[in-house]
Amino acid sequence: MQIHQNYSLKKHNTFGIDVCCKYYAEVKNENEITQLLSEARFKNKSKLIIGGGSNILFTKDFDGLVINQISNRIILSSEDEKYAFVSAEAGVIWHELVLFCVNKNLGGIENLSLIPGKVGAAPIQNIGAYGQELKNVFHSLKGIHIDDLKAVNFSSSDCKFGYRDSIFKKELKSKIIITEVILRLNKYPELNTSYGIIEDELSKLKKDNITIKNVSDIVCQIRRNKLPDPQKLGNAGSFFKNPEISIEEYNLLKSKYSELPGLKVSDTVIKIPAGWLIEKCGFKGKRIGNVGIHEKQALVIVNYGNGKPEEILKLKNKIIKKVNLKFNLELQQEVNII
Ligand SMILES: Cc1cc2nc3c(=O)[nH]c(=O)nc-3n(C[C@H](O)[C@H](O)[C@H](O)COP(=O)(O)OP(=O)(O)OC[C@H]3O[C@@H](n4cnc5c(N)ncnc54)[C@H](O)[C@@H]3O)c2cc1C
Repeated sequence: MQIHQNYSLKKHNTFGIDVCCKYYAEVKNENEITQLLSEARFKNKSKLIIGGGSNILFTKDFDGLVINQISNRIILSSEDEKYAFVSAEAGVIWHELVLFCVNKNLGGIENLSLIPGKVGAAPIQNIGAYGQELKNVFHSLKGIHIDDLKAVNFSSSDCKFGYRDSIFKKELKSKIIITEVILRLNKYPELNTSYGIIEDELSKLKKDNITIKNVSDIVCQIRRNKLPDPQKLGNAGSFFKNPEISIEEYNLLKSKYSELPGLKVSDTVIKIPAGWLIEKCGFKGKRIGNVGIHEKQALVIVNYGNGKPEEILKLKNKIIKKVNLKFNLELQQEVNII
């Protein structure tokens, strides 16, 4: 295991921000993690675990140790009549896990195809897309507590999953290194095509037996059309969460903006697409200096190349302020600001 000093993180965050960390190490397994964290020089240093850096905005140099896992094992660990349990190490690229499951016709994560990043980060914000969330297929995870290096196990309820949220963003923020995630997948997949655009695209296939492979391919195609590729244009996906409001608040807003979209979350709560709110404030496609809002998806802040974190933060604050003024709604950021 090599420990780099004064290491640039530019290649390790999809915004492409050029900051340095004091120490950087890539680790293959739990032994290397414990060996690394036992070193006296890191005892009182801040620690940051990263995966693909696709949900991070670095705002300054990190005066501590950055750990990136490069473990890559995926196994079908057990099965019963209905379900297969697939275990993936934290360093596995998320989409490779999706392909592993799709190719074995194990249903549950095909709607989450092509989400950037690694498996270890998936539980952090309970990744979700196109009508599916990790929590619906999550069985458990293994990890290491950073303070005492003890092995830990978390069940789904232990993780306290919420909308783009979990215990790892709250009381256990920066306390646990997730090393392995175990998913419970359906051996007899039920397609989740509740999202209109997926259904529209599937109907174009004019096929009777739609498979999870078809769903995965369509999700990839939609994402490639709609979202900027971080290799070409720096971004971290949706910068903001979609606000969830009460039906009463929603009806009040709808009386002012009749075209206001909303997705029913429960009998009392409606989710509003933040992209719609941002677009209505005139930000879509707008460029300010080196940064801007993507032309096809108003939820995505982009870095045109030489953007500074301050420019992104300034734009973020401007959006929050304008949406608040116009709709009286407080946007919450989804991206981890470090
Ligand atoms: C183009 C694009 C599209 C996206 N679309 C979606 C989408 O549809 N749905 C969605 O939910 N997200 C989406 N995202 C956001 C992002 O891909 C996910 O949040 C992903 O899970 C982040 O993985 P990562 O490995 O890059 O994590 P990183 O960005 O490296 O880290 C994210 C957070 O997790 C922590 N972390 C990472 N790994 C570990 C670990 N092993 N143990 C403990 N903590 C850890 C980090 O400290 C950080 O706080 C998108 C991003 C981009 C760029």
